[in-house]
Amino acid sequence: MYNKKVRVRFAPSPTGGLHLGGVRTVLYNYLFARQHKGDFIVRIEDTDQSRYVPGAEEYIFNCLKWAGLEPDESVIQGGNYGPYRQSERKPLYRKYADQLVADGHAYYAFDTPAELEKMRADFKTEQNPSPQYDRHIRTKMRNSLTLPQEEVKALIASGTPYVIRIKMPEEQIVSFTDMIRGEVSFNTSVIDDKVLLKADGMPTYHLAVVADDYLMEITHAFRGEEWLPSSPVHVLLWQYLFGLDKMPQWAHLPLILGPNGKLSKRDGAKYGFPVFAMNWTDPKTNELTEGFKEKGFLPEAFINMLALLGWNDGTGQEIFTKDELIEKFSMKRVHSGGAKFDYEKAKWFNREWIKQLEPAKLREQVKQVFAAANIPAADDILLDQVILLVKERCDLLTDFVEQAAFFFRAPEAYDLDAVKPKWNENKSLFFVEMIRNFELAAVWNATDLEHNFKEIAAANHLKPGEVLLPFRIMLVGGKFGPHVFDIAALLGRGETISRIKHFLSLL
Ligand code: GLU
Repeated sequence: MYNKKVRVRFAPSPTGGLHLGGVRTVLYNYLFARQHKGDFIVRIEDTDQSRYVPGAEEYIFNCLKWAGLEPDESVIQGGNYGPYRQSERKPLYRKYADQLVADGHAYYAFDTPAELEKMRADFKTEQNPSPQYDRHIRTKMRNSLTLPQEEVKALIASGTPYVIRIKMPEEQIVSFTDMIRGEVSFNTSVIDDKVLLKADGMPTYHLAVVADDYLMEITHAFRGEEWLPSSPVHVLLWQYLFGLDKMPQWAHLPLILGPNGKLSKRDGAKYGFPVFAMNWTDPKTNELTEGFKEKGFLPEAFINMLALLGWNDGTGQEIFTKDELIEKFSMKRVHSGGAKFDYEKAKWFNREWIKQLEPAKLREQVKQVFAAANIPAADDILLDQVILLVKERCDLLTDFVEQAAFFFRAPEAYDLDAVKPKWNENKSLFFVEMIRNFELAAVWNATDLEHNFKEIAAANHLKPGEVLLPFRIMLVGGKFGPHVFDIAALLGRGETISRIKHFLSLL
């Protein structure tokens, strides 16, 4: 479909947890790359060293691994376009900044932090509360456009710190075709002279993203809508440095909305739902933010839910496997308006996926959750039977702990209050008789157990309802769980009898 090999990239800055929106960007990149038999690259954008957070990079790769969205090229996989970490590419950017200066598209600025501060204070007005370094201000500052050439040379020669800024043209309309939004235009007069190269020689995001998309031969660049305002700067850099015909096609993905506006980490804490892909502990504050993985989401459900946050295939179908998404995804069907995140709907996706996932895959996931909860479930055959019995009751993988732990270990507590007030001698005698019946039962299956149980209850003038709830509480500890005779059948004769005996001793 495209005459060049499709190459897309996800370019995170390692500054903290990986937000839902970030994983959706990864997903759309991944689906597009797979659909077009292209390459999916992860490039670490760590040029802003002041925002660097230890552990964040490794965490991002762990999230991608869990979600099944691993790249073809990155600091982990390697590749022919490395290094894949911008801080290690520092020497590559300088020449582009110099070229822009030589061509008159950028200039040296020597203003000190104190001078910039003063500028912001001096030019602050009610209409313009935070003045920017733009075409009006630049004429009043210390830069290579205002200072005599000799002085500029002397300042550079003496090692005076400087940055390189883009010289935004006046009254120029910069446009490009966004794959989602169509034609997008900006007037350059309202855009400030962004720094391209910092005093320490590190590029800023703007220069690095354009240079690297060029050097890595990126054909399509998908990123969050919050980057739309930066796009005219990038388009100009493409025009000045490499030619617009080489520029990737852009798509700016819609915002993900929470209960009030843009979905934030704070919404998660406030409403009790995860916002990050996996648990993230901020190394500075030790604050833990919960992730979808640990909350009990299946990766299949997580990416299915994310795919539909902004896209649909037009048929109303909601459940998609990854392969179906690869086949059906299209940027044309991504809408530009914000996509509302609904946690109840996210759980619905997970419930549906728990119901339909291949048994062996679901077993592996449940095993991990059980291991984390110290539940000894070593017997795969029993585990499969248990899962089949309780999975309809689970929205989250973590629900399996409550719904099924009692199959593998005796309940830690019993809801005695639900039984004691209505307990009597007749019921005690009934259960003693049941123990004997169970001991002698020729076969051990749910149908026969139920039949015997009801017959003996009737012979003791008890309605089944009077003894079924106590029986359930004896086996599972509380008023929950699947059909009680299915439980007894799976627990087995010995364990069922021992739980009845133990319970009777508590009364
Ligand atoms: N480093 C930017 C970020 O953290 C990447 C934006 C882009 O994809 O161009 O989101």
